[in-house]
Amino acid sequence: MNDIDLKQYIASIPDFPKPGILFYDIGSLMRNADAWQLATARMAHAVAPWQPDQLAAIESRGFLTAAPLSTRLGAGIVMLRKPGKLPGETISHSYDLEYGSDTLHIQAGAIQPGQRVVVTDDMLATGGTLAASIALLRKAGANVVGASVLMELTALRGREKVDVPVHALLSYD
Ligand code: IMP
Repeated sequence: MNDIDLKQYIASIPDFPKPGILFYDIGSLMRNADAWQLATARMAHAVAPWQPDQLAAIESRGFLTAAPLSTRLGAGIVMLRKPGKLPGETISHSYDLEYGSDTLHIQAGAIQPGQRVVVTDDMLATGGTLAASIALLRKAGANVVGASVLMELTALRGREKVDVPVHALLSYD
């Protein structure tokens, strides 16, 4: 199975979650055991040279990519979560969306100063979520060494918003 073959397991759903949006669904890949094993093995292979201490998982589908990467690479996981989800003291970062704004949190002390962190999510689109996650991780003391996503919408040029190397397993125009 090559990357072209893996794409056939990604369902694309028109007009979700809003009219005019074409949604690429990680769920349809994950439910195929062989395709999911291959996808996560390839993502881990690409990330391995960055030698992360921690995977930073962006809520919520980033939790799904972080878990297999962490076990394959022998790294930990830290969660980047929406407000009100993490217990104890947190560090936060707010960022602008097309309409309104959003905030991500990380538990204070989750990152040891200078730890090598790779941030992960299912999809890189405009890059706003990834850029905000990197800013938050740096506030928390991380050395962000890369980003790993399952899918990238290349036409939106989201990777130009970030100053770390980005690996995307599957690219869509
Ligand atoms: P961005 O901030 O515009 O790069 O959007 C990326 C975020 O939106 C990620 O957290 C994704 O989970 C989510 N997202 C945007 N488009 C899709 C999609 O087609 N499939 C799955 N998630 C998406």
